[in-house]
Amino acid sequence: MSETIKYLLDEGQLPKSWYNIQADLPKPAPPVLHPGTHQPIGPGDLAPLFPMELIMQEVSTERQIDIPEPVRKIYRQWRPSPLYRARRLEAALQTPAKIYYKYEGVSPTGSHKPNTAIPQAFYNREAGIKRLVTETGAGQWGSSLAFAGGVFGLEVQVFMVRVSYDQKPYRRALMETYGASCIASPSDQTQSGRAILAQRADHPGSLGIAISEAVEIAAQRDDTKYSLGSVLNHVLMHQTVIGQEAMLQMEMAGDYPDVIVGCTGGGSNFAGIVFPFLGAQLRGGKKLRIVAVEPAACPSLTRGKYAYDFGDTAHLTPLTKMHTLGSTFTPPGFHAGGLRYHGMAPLVSHLLQLDLIEATAYHQIACFDAGVQFARAEGIVPAPEANHAVKGAIVEAIRCREEGKSRTILFNLCGHGHFDMQAYIDYFAGKLKDLNYDEAELAMALAGLPSVKEAA
Ligand SMILES: *Cc1c(COP(=O)(O)O)cnc(C)c1O
Repeated sequence: MSETIKYLLDEGQLPKSWYNIQADLPKPAPPVLHPGTHQPIGPGDLAPLFPMELIMQEVSTERQIDIPEPVRKIYRQWRPSPLYRARRLEAALQTPAKIYYKYEGVSPTGSHKPNTAIPQAFYNREAGIKRLVTETGAGQWGSSLAFAGGVFGLEVQVFMVRVSYDQKPYRRALMETYGASCIASPSDQTQSGRAILAQRADHPGSLGIAISEAVEIAAQRDDTKYSLGSVLNHVLMHQTVIGQEAMLQMEMAGDYPDVIVGCTGGGSNFAGIVFPFLGAQLRGGKKLRIVAVEPAACPSLTRGKYAYDFGDTAHLTPLTKMHTLGSTFTPPGFHAGGLRYHGMAPLVSHLLQLDLIEATAYHQIACFDAGVQFARAEGIVPAPEANHAVKGAIVEAIRCREEGKSRTILFNLCGHGHFDMQAYIDYFAGKLKDLNYDEAELAMALAGLPSVKEAA
């Protein structure tokens, strides 16, 4: 039996700074626009929602930004995270490819999300904030912010997408265990929520709606800020601890990736593993193939339009240029709740536009097939979201087998699936369906995109 090989860094190798890809872009990403005037916004426009340190990170073009020592102290509980060579999976696939995966499931909440929850809570506490409000899909983000809020003594309130609230009671319990409060969205606690419920009392919710509710609450109180678990530049940057560590670990392995694969919901774990390597490429290093894998039922990168859109359904957020399915789009209720956002991180969208990355989409049954094959070989049960990355990596490995070529594949195993076993139960019972989004609804959501005149 082949052994799984583990590459561990010592605590001294924990990154001292985050990597900001905005320093190395061949062309800057388009500006964020004010929803009313359609003019580029300034830091002051975001001040009601975020503390100034995070706003400055959002617009920074400095290449490395120091990680505050109190944040590194908390990171050390589970970081540096392990990198594995998937020898038993390689054997099962009979592939000449070398498959490596970075494992983010070792964090307290079981995913990469605390990598940004911890610094976000820290900077808010430094700014004197008492309460954070946010949204969550599957509950990964809500539980991570609940954990981080607890660490830094902040109250946390989470609007959880209704379908997940009903499907995933254990994530909800986890948030409450950490001391946060969790409300099903759409709720009757906000204007945005009440407007949606008036149209449809049994609305399943969406991330776009939950964001509207959280933003609305945060904007009302001085001691309260909003916190987002993906999409924004500073969130992607916090995740680059993943890729920076992986670079050192690939060096330990005496290897370097030819292909990097990540799953994309809002783009943060993908950016986390990819950006440090892509930055090296942009500064003259080795050229890589980089593959973003998304669900076929919510395919923003592969089927969305690259256009200015709102981040939320009630149109309270600024406009960002991104691959979007339209802010009113509600995807069908498939199991990878963390991949159900209508848009994509502007930085990831920009990279696709520049042909620096590729995107592909798979249906959920094929992703669960891949996840189960991975679990049986490597012993780790991936989160349904992570199954998309596993699927993408297996497709690359099989291509190597068919072409008789050995390539080095690196993917991000962004979380474990221990809270998602109902999805696996449904899969084994043959109850999972490959859900298609409603074409008419997509057309309608895209027709509703704001019309923005862009400067040439
Ligand atoms: C939240 C989440 C995702 C999707 O978010 P990204 O910002 O695209 O990373 C993917 N996988 C897991 C395990 C998650 O918790």
